[in-house]
Amino acid sequence: MISYRDRLNNAVIMMNYYKSLRRILDRPREPNRFWPSEATVDQPTPDAIRTYGECARKLYYKLHNELPEELNYLSIMRMSLGSLVEENQVKYSKLISTNVKTQSEVKVPYGDILISGKIDHVLHDPHADVFDIIEHKSSYGYGFTSEIFKKGNFKQNHALQLGLYMYGVRAYNILEPIGVPNDKVRTGLLVYTDRGNCDNVDFIIDVAPNTKATLENTEIVGTTAEPYIVYNKAGKMERFASIQRMLHKMFMIHGFVKAGVLPPIDFVNQIDPMILNDLTRRDKITSAEKIEYLRSQKIDWNCGYCQFKSKCIKNEQPNTTAINTEHAKEKLQMLEAKFYSIEGIQIQDIIRANAETPEELPV
Ligand code: SF4
Repeated sequence: MISYRDRLNNAVIMMNYYKSLRRILDRPREPNRFWPSEATVDQPTPDAIRTYGECARKLYYKLHNELPEELNYLSIMRMSLGSLVEENQVKYSKLISTNVKTQSEVKVPYGDILISGKIDHVLHDPHADVFDIIEHKSSYGYGFTSEIFKKGNFKQNHALQLGLYMYGVRAYNILEPIGVPNDKVRTGLLVYTDRGNCDNVDFIIDVAPNTKATLENTEIVGTTAEPYIVYNKAGKMERFASIQRMLHKMFMIHGFVKAGVLPPIDFVNQIDPMILNDLTRRDKITSAEKIEYLRSQKIDWNCGYCQFKSKCIKNEQPNTTAINTEHAKEKLQMLEAKFYSIEGIQIQDIIRANAETPEELPV
């Protein structure tokens, strides 16, 4: 008998894949539109230029509407737990304020690109009569607890995301129409919840918006006039990443998309994919050995979670620059065939019956 876990596993993976296909087919990405959660920057530090945030190549695949590899059940469940924790945090924050604004939209233009997204929530402090911009994140496990709670280190990609919101709010006075003028915005708070013990910790992340980051303003990089993400360390605000550099990198990625040129990878897998592929092609190593090798090489965590890694490792272009319905159907059929052989039952019929709008499914 197939275990409950395995049956659930297959059904959740497949349902998620249907949803992801449907999203791509119904609401394809615009090639010049980025989300703040995809912020990325190549930031000079005293020892090297470091990439924080999303990988340029991963963004390239996303902006081409490349179909992602299917996520496993555990990742899907973890992500939905994360959303639940966030929703709860917003709910509980209404206990400490009567004025909570959720999902306020922030738009940051730069050249011909637009970064737009929604702030988790804006919270009024009735004692000081000011507002804080809050971004919630949650995770679990030893690494998370140790880094965030014990060592007091925020995750850089989260700071970039909140930094972009703060920049949008401060530079464009975006929240004024909902009754939050700039002089009432106190700071940005990156709030982490430990999903293991439900403990909370928050970091102050703000932006010093000395001037606007615009395509015409690139010469301000490296000057004190540059808008910078700052964070609180031992009671003092320190510099973290340049807004101008961040927006410019996203603008450059859009340039790669327009030119159809695959950008270089931002995170090194500690292997040379070309060599590895060549070895596989010449039957020097099997595909299984290649996978084993990759696993043993402690690949960058960004690559470990990346849904385009099998394409990336072969330096492959996305399937098409347009939405390829035929390709989506083909992937879905392969997936169904895989589940048939595992399950021996018509699992996709159950999923289709439970889908919100089955007629929209691409099969
Ligand atoms: S596998 Fe790594 S380097 Fe390649 S696209 Fe994904 S994150 Fe970037």
